[in-house]
Amino acid sequence: MTHIIDGKTISADLRGKVADAVHRLRRDRGIVPGIAVVLVGEDPASSVYVRTKSKAVAEAGMHAFDRKLPMTTPEADLLALIAELNADKAVNGILVQLPLPKQIDAQKVIAAIDPAKDVDGFHPINVGRLASGLPALVPCTPMGCVLLAKTVHASLAGMEAVVIGRSNIVGKPVAQLLLAENATVTVAHSKTRDLPAVCRRADVLVAAIGRPEFVRGDWIKPGATVIDVGINRVPGKDGKSRIVGDVAFAEAAQVAGAITPVPGGVGPMTIACLLLNTVRAACAQNGLPAPQV
Ligand code: NAP
Repeated sequence: MTHIIDGKTISADLRGKVADAVHRLRRDRGIVPGIAVVLVGEDPASSVYVRTKSKAVAEAGMHAFDRKLPMTTPEADLLALIAELNADKAVNGILVQLPLPKQIDAQKVIAAIDPAKDVDGFHPINVGRLASGLPALVPCTPMGCVLLAKTVHASLAGMEAVVIGRSNIVGKPVAQLLLAENATVTVAHSKTRDLPAVCRRADVLVAAIGRPEFVRGDWIKPGATVIDVGINRVPGKDGKSRIVGDVAFAEAAQVAGAITPVPGGVGPMTIACLLLNTVRAACAQNGLPAPQV
């Protein structure tokens, strides 16, 4: 029987530990970590995501400083807001929800965030620190992927890991984190030759492609751990849409040793890791050691 990696339970456990760390910070140091989530425009998916984040921030006992700007916001106005948040001591983490409207250069905005407050881990300083093996704020979804894999294997040292996808948001940082765990890492992408054969080498397979049920059961090494990052909306039988991952779950579950479901796998870990990053950032900014979580 394959083990279903229960992201809901694992993330709830992590959120509980973060809430405990927040409680200790408030009680012992009078510090309440705060995060500013900035949303430009009214993209429905982004709005839902931002609401979910703000609720989780409040539940963890932290301050949420939500900032909503109109779709037509000029780049200069957003940069001015970032400068204001960088200077605000109550704000320990800044997250600008992507994608941004086309008049705004996302790279410029990310680069304007104080790297110490960059709880999304997308600032070039944090990207470089992660790649250099230095302490860094690391992207939340990739961190969640590795935490889930480590619920199955206490150590990933020496394991063959294959990551499908090389985006800056998921694929590349997952690969860096797996390398930091001493896995032997292959990054596959749309130009990879014989992708099924590459995948069959993997003890740990991470799929971050954005194509529904793309990875088939016979691509998976028997007993492998499969982490499915994909979130794809497809038409359901009843006329309503449903969410599936990048892995054909029913087939893969016949072969894998452990697998994340979609939904209920990687997704819930992303927000839990964002909360963790915010507490870590608050501790670092106040000269305190990283929280015990
Ligand atoms: P992305 O920027 O579109 O990157 C997709 C990657 O997949 C690219 O590197 C691309 O290769 C590769 N790819 C596309 N078609 C391929 C093929 N036929 N064979 C092999 N590789 C192929 O997507 P992303 O932002 O990384 O997101 C990936 C998925 O994760 C999406 O479903 C997204 O919704 C989901 N996601 C989930 C969470 C979460 O919280 N669970 C967070 C973020 C993203 P090239 O580079 O060669 O084009």
